[in-house]
Amino acid sequence: MNALPQGGSPIDAAFVRRWLDAATTAVDREAAALTQLDSPIGDADHGTNMRRGFVAARTAVEQEPPDTPGGVLVAVGRQLISTVGGASGPLYGTLLRRAGKALGDEPTVTAAQLADALRAGVEGVGQLGGAAAGDKTMLDALLPAVDALARALDAGSDTADALAAAAAAADEGAKATTPMRARKGRASYLGERSIGHQDPGATSSALLMTAFADTAREVGA
Ligand code: ADP
Ligand code: MG
Repeated sequence: MNALPQGGSPIDAAFVRRWLDAATTAVDREAAALTQLDSPIGDADHGTNMRRGFVAARTAVEQEPPDTPGGVLVAVGRQLISTVGGASGPLYGTLLRRAGKALGDEPTVTAAQLADALRAGVEGVGQLGGAAAGDKTMLDALLPAVDALARALDAGSDTADALAAAAAAADEGAKATTPMRARKGRASYLGERSIGHQDPGATSSALLMTAFADTAREVGA
């Protein structure tokens, strides 16, 4: 009786465009808070960087909408790389371009394919920035998120529940950066003084994962 593939309904270009809308709205709403987090352990520009990148990406995708989920992710990644001056631009750009490329030209993909693609993207972030778990970076939200996503799908969760588990793991991961000492990026210059502040990039990663979860819930994936 179950007509849907395991892991819920397929993910198409419209789904990823909807995610881009939700992500841009969240980044815009939280821009001041992200910049505030980047103030004691950075240069107070993370919210501005993210907003500039996501607004440019949404405009580009609206003007020339790609017709595959991979195409949308690649377009967003490209815009982030070309419009964001900070470290987060190339890192998020790599995440999304790699993930998009991993999805190829398929018009629809499953949640399991999206999970594998995001993992490939997260590995790209690790390769580009040289950071690992525990270094107090965006990877401390992204790694637990892709792990939780794969675990939930393996256990038979539908897309919306699996993405909600990923968002919760990203959020927990972001909060867990507070007691860490930064070993990569601008915050690492502060050494011990980076302890006691939540990492801005891990916080924005949690926002992006929450946008995926919200999108899946809204479309009933
Ligand atoms: P910048 O540090 O150049 O001002 P942003 O403020 O936009 O750029 O982004 C800072 C965030 O980027 C950090 O909070 C951290 O999560 C992430 N980041 C910085 N360097 C790295 C790295 N080498 N690997 C992974 N993430 C990194
Ligand atoms: Mg900064």
